[in-house]
This record gives sequence, structure tokens and C-alpha cells, in this order.
Amino acid sequence: MYKIPFNKPYATGQEFTYMQQAVANGHLSGDGKFTKQCHAFLERTVGVPKALLTTSCTHALEMAALLLDIQAGDEVICPSFTFVTSIGAFVLRGAQPVFCDVRPDTLNLDEARLEALITPRTKAIVVVHYAGVACEMDAIMAIADRHGVPVVEDNAHGLFSRYKGRYTGTFGALATQSFHETKNFTCGEGGALLINDPRLHERAEIVREKGTNRSRFFRGQVDKYTWVDLGSSYLPSDLLAAYLWAQFEQAEDIQNRRKTLWERYAAHVPEWANAHHATLMTVPADRDQSYHMYYLLMPSLDVRTALIDHLKARNVYAPFHYLPLHLSDMGRKFGGQVGDCPVTEDVSDRLIRLPLYNQMTEDEQRYVLDMLWQFEG
Ligand SMILES: *Cc1c(COP(=O)(O)O)cnc(C)c1O
Repeated sequence: MYKIPFNKPYATGQEFTYMQQAVANGHLSGDGKFTKQCHAFLERTVGVPKALLTTSCTHALEMAALLLDIQAGDEVICPSFTFVTSIGAFVLRGAQPVFCDVRPDTLNLDEARLEALITPRTKAIVVVHYAGVACEMDAIMAIADRHGVPVVEDNAHGLFSRYKGRYTGTFGALATQSFHETKNFTCGEGGALLINDPRLHERAEIVREKGTNRSRFFRGQVDKYTWVDLGSSYLPSDLLAAYLWAQFEQAEDIQNRRKTLWERYAAHVPEWANAHHATLMTVPADRDQSYHMYYLLMPSLDVRTALIDHLKARNVYAPFHYLPLHLSDMGRKFGGQVGDCPVTEDVSDRLIRLPLYNQMTEDEQRYVLDMLWQFEG
């Protein structure tokens, strides 16, 4: 009998070797050899001028809020259908969240609804490339540029995903990555801030180093370091960077594994979906996805609940995903009401994610497919 979790943390096998090397190097704090290798890898492969590892994607988002000088009363726009910290990091600085609905096809921020939400107080637009399928970046960047509002890409799902050939994470002034256990590449808990706006490079180092100019000091650019700005401690230990480096080294293999798994679902699920009136994921032709997730939209909340229970009874863990943020306890405090984001409210009730992890075997995946076919809902 199989037991198929939704996710399993992955290791390439080199992680402990590199962690031991970090110990042998005598540099366990941040910005050691492995951290620098990870920075260079992200800069080179994604094509960003500057990348900094952080302790999480949430912390990279907090850095973004500090770098964009978010103040009490500023408005920040983000989709309601996302993880809490896409907006929580800005609310922590006093921002008022402004929730935008998503498109019914990609479940990304609906660019057609964006401009109407912009006011003179809008200080940032956060977009999320859901499931690693890029947002409508041409339209979003045009609107943001017209109003002079910086865009932050929450690219937690989308490392190596592309929009019209260009990597996500290279469009906004800032972008954030996650290396949490549930993401394509992991070190347990970790993240990165990608900095495209050159005016923010130096301050990003300062904000990440407790508000000090310590990075410049280590490069010999100043002869002592001191407190110069707001900041916190956002740099991970080089031990975690060593773990992550082992995964970056195998980036192609990891992405190929996920692509194979995703495509096997894509080859076999549609017939089942058709029989059960389920809607498949949409990946527009001009986008290369990151194979982060395989999801379906069931015809109703009841059918989805029945399917989740059916699979669980057969040891297959297929969870739902985000609840509408505008209807959360916090969202309601900021004025969120039923009906504000109808697409989000609808898809949130009907979405189910199938198990997908780097080391999933073909037999395990076949078992998931067999159990789907046994569903009578
Ligand atoms: C996972 C995730 C985050 C948070 O990442 P952490 O590294 O756990 O802080 C933020 N946004 C999205 C869209 C995510 O999926």
C-alpha cells in the first residue's frame, strides 16, 4: 500500500558534504563561500543584476517593504489569492492592503482590474506568478510605469519560469524567491531577494545587515561599519546556503524531474478531468512554467471535499490551497467583504493540488492516477 504525501523534502545527496565543507571553512554565519556561490548562480541563471539570499521569502518581502519606504497609510495592491506574507510583509510597515481579484484562467492578478485600484497613495504592486505560470507582465508593467508605482514579484513558485522568453523575477524593481521545504529548490527555510533597480542595490545590503554598512566594510570600501538605516537580520547561515548550493548544482536535473512528473499528469489527468467536469491548469503558449504545481478546479466545493476525502482514505494527500485573504480575519479588519474578489472566492473553494515532489516515482504517480479513477463523485 502506497502512502503519497503532498510534498517530500528533497536532497540530492551532496548537501551534507557541502555543509561539512562550510564547517571546515570555519564560516557558519552569513555571506560565506556558499552564500556567494548561490548569489552568483541566481544572478547568472535568472539574469538579475543582484541577488541576496535571505532567511525566507517572507523576509525578502519585508526587505522589499523597507526598501520601498512603505509607511503607515500607504496602499499596497496584491492579489487576494496568495500566501499571507505576500501582503503581510507590507502591512507590518503600516500599509493598507488593497486586494485585487485574479484571472479565472491563470489565477494570477487580473491586470484588467488593476488600474482602477491605483490611487495617489499606492506605493507598490505585488504580483504572484501562481504555480510558476507568469502573470500578464506586459500589461502590468505598462500600468505600473504609467503611474510610477514599483512592482514587486513574489516569485516563490516561479524560479526559472519565463514570460515571452524572459525569466520571472527580472521584471519588477524587486522580486522574491522561497526555498522553503515545499518549493522546487529548498534548504528547509530560506529565500532570496532579487534586486533589479540599481538604486536599491546598496540599501538592500544595508537593510539585510541590520541597517549597517557592514557589507561595504568587508569589501574594504569603508574603514569602519556603523548603523546607517533601518534594517534587520535577513541573512541565512552559510550552512543553509551549502545545502541550497547542492540543489542549485542539480538545477537542471531537479527541473527535469518535475517536468516529467507534471507532463505525466498532463498526459493522463485530462480524460479523468473531462469525465468529472474538472478544469485543467492553464499555461498560455507564451509562457514557460516552473513545474511547481499540478492543480485542478473541481466543479464545486462539495465535489472537491469528497475528492480530498476519497484520496486521503487511500493514503493520497491532495490539499486545497489559498483561502481568500480579503475574507481572512485580518482582511476583514481592513474592510474585506464577500463579493470583493468573486473569482478568488470561487476558485479558492474548488482548487485541489495533486502530489508532486522531485523524487516521486512513476509507480507512486500511477497509484495517484489509479485512485483518481476510483473516485465516484
Ligand atoms: C511559500 C510562499 C511564500 C513564503 O515563503 P517563505 O520562504 O516560507 O517565507 C510567499 N509567497 C508565496 C506565493 C509562497 O508560495
